[in-house]
Amino acid sequence: ALLLWLIFAYGYLAGAVMLMFSGFLLAWFTVGDRAEPAYWAAGLVWLLPFTFMYREGEQEKEAREKRKLQREKLKEETEAVGRAIKEMEARLANSRRWRDRMAPLCNLAEDLLAALRPGDVASALVGNLPQLIPSADRFYCYRLDGVDTTGRVQMAAALPPEEGASGVYVLDELDRTCIQEGRAVISEDVRRTSVKVHPERLTGSVVIAPLTMRMKSGTTIGGVRQTVGALRVEAMQPAAFDRSDFDILSVMGDAAAGAFLNTDLYIAREQLAVRDALTGLLLRHVFFERAAQDMSRSRRSGASFSVVMLDIDDFKRLNDTWGHTAGDLVLKKLAAILLEALQPGEIVCRYGGEELTALLHNDVLRAERRVRRLIARFAEEKFLFPDEKGEMREVHATVSAGIAAFPLHGDDLVGLIQQADRALYRAKRLGKNQPVTARKR
Ligand code: GH3
Ligand code: MG
Ligand code: MG
Repeated sequence: ALLLWLIFAYGYLAGAVMLMFSGFLLAWFTVGDRAEPAYWAAGLVWLLPFTFMYREGEQEKEAREKRKLQREKLKEETEAVGRAIKEMEARLANSRRWRDRMAPLCNLAEDLLAALRPGDVASALVGNLPQLIPSADRFYCYRLDGVDTTGRVQMAAALPPEEGASGVYVLDELDRTCIQEGRAVISEDVRRTSVKVHPERLTGSVVIAPLTMRMKSGTTIGGVRQTVGALRVEAMQPAAFDRSDFDILSVMGDAAAGAFLNTDLYIAREQLAVRDALTGLLLRHVFFERAAQDMSRSRRSGASFSVVMLDIDDFKRLNDTWGHTAGDLVLKKLAAILLEALQPGEIVCRYGGEELTALLHNDVLRAERRVRRLIARFAEEKFLFPDEKGEMREVHATVSAGIAAFPLHGDDLVGLIQQADRALYRAKRLGKNQPVTARKR
């Protein structure tokens, strides 16, 4: 339009100049003398079309102004529409992003609900996190049970997996803030803050969400929220995470805490079916099943093994003097000492009351030596119990043992247990606090 206007304007102007010039030339040639009034009259006559053209220009200017106003209005309207479209596109992109995140969030919820073991919770988190928080470069999930003074905790999950290979996570200031305050924390760029991070984890952005669950003196119903661990995501880029990442991680933290709680309950229930609640030792029927498998393996390989029956000495008197709670403590201690002394694959059960049975992968001589050491170790154990006056008293307990070995004393479990029991009876008669081996067949 501008070009056309220029061409027209130029044409118009050139036309007028040409007319004037030819008028002057005509006057020059017809009149010939510039002093003559006719000369000027001729010139003025030739200017007439120019004044007409000028008046035409005034009208055009008005029209142009009008057109300009219209154009400006149109431009404004177009811009408003453009802005509205952009806003809608942004909203659409946002809802698409949410829709894209909903799928992994649903998968995560499903996986967490189905988790029976801590490993299942870890793989649910690791499996869904990259889609949920795409800007994350690294991810850690840790639980606080067993945190030591140096802030080392057991890692539950990590991404990339090699980050979790050591199985140990060291807490830094950011972790501590999150845990102490029980709320998610975000740092746009840890390098620009005074926060001390672990030297191996010098990164840009960090978000940490606590794993929280409601606790009330051992139960999880009602009560105060307790932080049992945390989820931490990191990105090398500063300011890599936004509000939605923060929100998603907070929700994940609560969901994962619930899932971990479920796995703990599941494992506890499972343990209840195989282990005695007081001592943590195998139940008798489970011991019999496992011992049968173990023995058939040993028979095939020709390896010897020994059955040990243990019975706490004068336990009734101990109970009568110091109370049943004291008795329970003594029994638990003996169980702990036994469990600690077992070699991989060896088993021990609570046969009944204060009688324990162990299956050792040793011949009779080695078994006797080991049991003697165990008995001495238990006798050294100091217990402190209050007497009737409430004064703490040092108490010692002892245990006797009977040992029977395969194939020396028998070839089936029931026979070996009988032999070991008889030997135990002899140990009691010989003065207690000692091991006695069964008589040869
Ligand atoms: P001995 O040296 O001959 O073995 O004497 P003892 O007193 O240990 O003999 P006995 O086997 O008759 O007594 C066992 C006692 O152990 C009886 C029972 O009250 C107690 N007992 C059994 N199970 C438990 C338990 O789980 N906790 C406590 N505190 N006591 C138990
Ligand atoms: Mg006893
Ligand atoms: Mg007994």
